[in-house]
Amino acid sequence: MSSIKKLGARKRIALIAHDNKKPDLIEWAIFNKTTLAKHELIATGTTGKMVEEALDRPVKKLLSGPLGGDQQIGSMIAQSEIDVMIFFWDPMEAQPHDSDVKALLRLGIAWNIPMACDRSTADFLMTSPFMHEEYNATLPNYTDYLTREIKKDE
Ligand code: PGA
Repeated sequence: MSSIKKLGARKRIALIAHDNKKPDLIEWAIFNKTTLAKHELIATGTTGKMVEEALDRPVKKLLSGPLGGDQQIGSMIAQSEIDVMIFFWDPMEAQPHDSDVKALLRLGIAWNIPMACDRSTADFLMTSPFMHEEYNATLPNYTDYLTREIKKDE
């Protein structure tokens, strides 16, 4: 049986953008400033600094992505401390922390986080009625995984 995770009306939104995508994220954030004002923003270091300046409001800044910021966001997702993720990753350039990027995207799916990786999807997310009301997210059932038998060598 799956379980329910209640998201409040005020969402905790994670923002991350790779360097070539930062201008896009900033433009998007300014365009959605009024909607974002109703929510809490958490971001990787450099992205957070830029969003803070562009929106003139506080953003909780974690470490820079390549220095562990992506993993911090992933850990917050696993602990139900992030409700929504906007992650503009760069499809045209390899990153020094590609393994962290993959891990973060994987955790977003594992914990059924509404996740946008491009501007259009991010706009669709921001205009969803669920952004402004409580929402019951269905969590995958990992009971079988947690109670699985591990075969021991005999
Ligand atoms: P940054 O990290 O916001 O510190 O640049 C983003 C990333 O590359 O993951």
